[in-house]
Order: sequence, then C-alpha cells, then structure tokens
Amino acid sequence: MHVTTTSRPALALYLHIPFCTAKCGYCDFNSYAGLDHLVPEYTPALVRELELWAPAAREFEVRTVFFGGGTPSLSSLDDLATIAEAVRANYTVADDTEWSLEANPGELTLEHLQGMRALGINRLSIGVQSLHDDELKMLDRIHTADRAIEAIEAARTAGFDNLNIDLIFGLIDQPLARWQQTLERALALRPEHLSCYALTVEPGTALYYQVAKGILQAPDGDIVADQYDWTRERLAAAGYHQYEISNWALPGRECRHNLVYWRADPYLGIGAGAHSFFAGQRFANVDAPNKYVELVNATAEERRTTGRATMQQIKGGEHPDEATLRSDAMILGLRLIEGVDAVEFASRFGCTVEDVFGPAVAKHIGYGLLEWADGRLRLTERGLLLSNEVFIDLLPDRETEPAPTEA
Ligand code: SF4
Repeated sequence: MHVTTTSRPALALYLHIPFCTAKCGYCDFNSYAGLDHLVPEYTPALVRELELWAPAAREFEVRTVFFGGGTPSLSSLDDLATIAEAVRANYTVADDTEWSLEANPGELTLEHLQGMRALGINRLSIGVQSLHDDELKMLDRIHTADRAIEAIEAARTAGFDNLNIDLIFGLIDQPLARWQQTLERALALRPEHLSCYALTVEPGTALYYQVAKGILQAPDGDIVADQYDWTRERLAAAGYHQYEISNWALPGRECRHNLVYWRADPYLGIGAGAHSFFAGQRFANVDAPNKYVELVNATAEERRTTGRATMQQIKGGEHPDEATLRSDAMILGLRLIEGVDAVEFASRFGCTVEDVFGPAVAKHIGYGLLEWADGRLRLTERGLLLSNEVFIDLLPDRETEPAPTEA
C-alpha cells in the first residue's frame, strides 16, 4: 500500500540477505559463501517474516527500506521483486521512501542495475573499499579498481542518482598517499555519499588470525589517525558534510535509514541475524540462515493453525535491559556529529545523562574528547578520532545507578 507521508510514526525496514560469492578475510558480518542452495527457501522465509510482523507494524509508515548483507545485489531480480512486493503488500509505505541496496561491484551488470532501479530501489551503497588492485586482493575482494569504476558508471547509466561509495582506510602497510589516491579517484566519481571506515581487525576473522600469528602487522595507529584527519579536511573542502564518525554526504543526501539506527528510532530487521529496535525492545534473529528458515516456517505454521505466532522463536538470545538501552542510546547517538540531545535522553529514560554517565562524561570532557553544545553532548574533533576510548566508559557495566525519580 502506497501513501504520501502522513503523521503515522515512521518505521525503517532492514532486510538481510546473507549470501556472498566469497568470504572476505576481514569480514565479521553474518554472511556466508557456499550457501547458494539455501536461496530458494530463504526468499519465501523473508516474505513470511514480513507477513508475521505486519500486524504489529500496522500503525507505522515505512519510510526507509534497506537491503543489506551479505551481498543483496547477488539476488535475482525475481527474488528482489518478490521481497519488494511483500513489503508493499503488507506495510504502509510512503511514496518518498528511501529504498537502499548494498551492491558488490564485482557482479554488477547494467541489466541487473536497470532491473533493480525499475523495482523502485533508489539508492545504492557500493562496496568499493579501495581503488588499488593489490589492496583489494589483500582484502579478498573479488573486483578490481577498474571494475568498481565501471560498476559506478553503469549505476549512473541505469538511473541511480543517489550513490554511496564504501571505502576502507587504515589498511595494513597503507601509507597516507595510497589512501589519498583512492579517495581522490572516488571523489572524481562525485558520489552523493561516502562511508570511510578504518579497518578493524575483528576477532574470529581470517585477518585476525593472520595478525595474531604475526603473518600480517596490525595497522599503524598514527598513520590511521593522519589518514582520518586528512579525510575530514579533504571531504569538507569537496563539499561533503560529515554527519557521523565515518559518514559524509552532499547536502540532503545523508542515509536516512542509517540515521534511524543512530537516533534510536524504531526499525524492524527481517532475515537471519537481523537486529530490531521495536516497541521499546532490542532483539535479534538467529544468525544461522538454515535455522532462521526453519524457525520462520514453524512460526508461520503456528500462525496458520492457531491464529497466534510466537515471534520469540525466531529471535536469538539478546534481551537487553534498561542499562544496555541507555548505553546503546549514548554510544549510537555520539557517533553522530550532532551528538545526544540531553532533553530527549531524559524524557526517554527518566534520568539525565549526568545521573547515569556523570563520571565518564566529566572525565572525557576533561580529556577534551567530549563537549556540551546547545544542550547536546557530542564528541570533539579529537574525540571523533578517539571515540572508542569514550565508548568503553559508556558501556552498561560502567554506569552509575540513576537516583530514583520522584513520583
Ligand atoms: S562481500 Fe561484504 S558481506 Fe560479503 S564477505 Fe565480503 S565484506 Fe563480508
């Protein structure tokens, strides 16, 4: 059902497609290579989960839809059409909804891009990561720099006028000049949005074991800091506005979907391992795609036979308490350059930022990493670089107990 934007509360939908051609060595996302045999069962399960959630989301209007992964651009046009149709058939969807899809340049063809555009996908986030072939190889990416540029040009030809380019800096042995070349080449393509993340060596990844065994050196922190500082200056000079630690956009082209996460607005995550924040609760689906399919099918069968559905079944073990919700709101909100609104925080949680995080906030204001401005707590320029030092002190076990509020 399509409507123009109304006063209904907004809802974001995240749709997880966990399949990839190959697993990249640095990747700790819930993504899998070699599970293609599951695709024919997975798409119907996504549709069933969308149908199962629809009654609970009746009051909402969907304003952003995000196909993430994994590699959603690997999905056939038929599968994407089936999923998009299920969204439109079961939810109230605003006419100006942002429909984003994560795309891998290695497999993008003009025909596929045109098909996705015809389905109503109006924003692509293209995982370019680097524009040097040796760096792409080190990251286990299957595309080359030339292929990435061709894919972006094909996306323009297919009619996409809202493109994000994802890049990674702080690569192993990457001097500043190499990163500068990648960013300059990306800027020449004039994307509407750029995500520039520092490489993190995540436990459990192939990269982690290579670093742990001394086969590869961890990225040099000083070089990473220089690269980040230069990126901020260069993108500001090119007219991009930094609105989050790792995200920049031309005016009005911020990713509306990701803003929902950082501002702790409601979203439903559909698919294996997808996270949700809905009806004041945070929860996540089970990670394993085969288990997810099994649980969704059992829940749909329960709805069919009893009229009830125990959505709990599809979920994994995460049931965060209030302390975790407060910590999440602070850490996610501080990722935004605008920071955390003190009044909003107090009205949401019934206690002030200082009640809960007073010592940590005072400490990091003292270190010059946090500051108050216009009723908002935000990271300083130095704090953007050292945000993890701040975030670690905002974890739930570091909270002070909030004083009881008066009745
Ligand atoms: S393509 Fe993306 S999601 Fe898939 S393994 Fe590589 S980094 Fe992870």
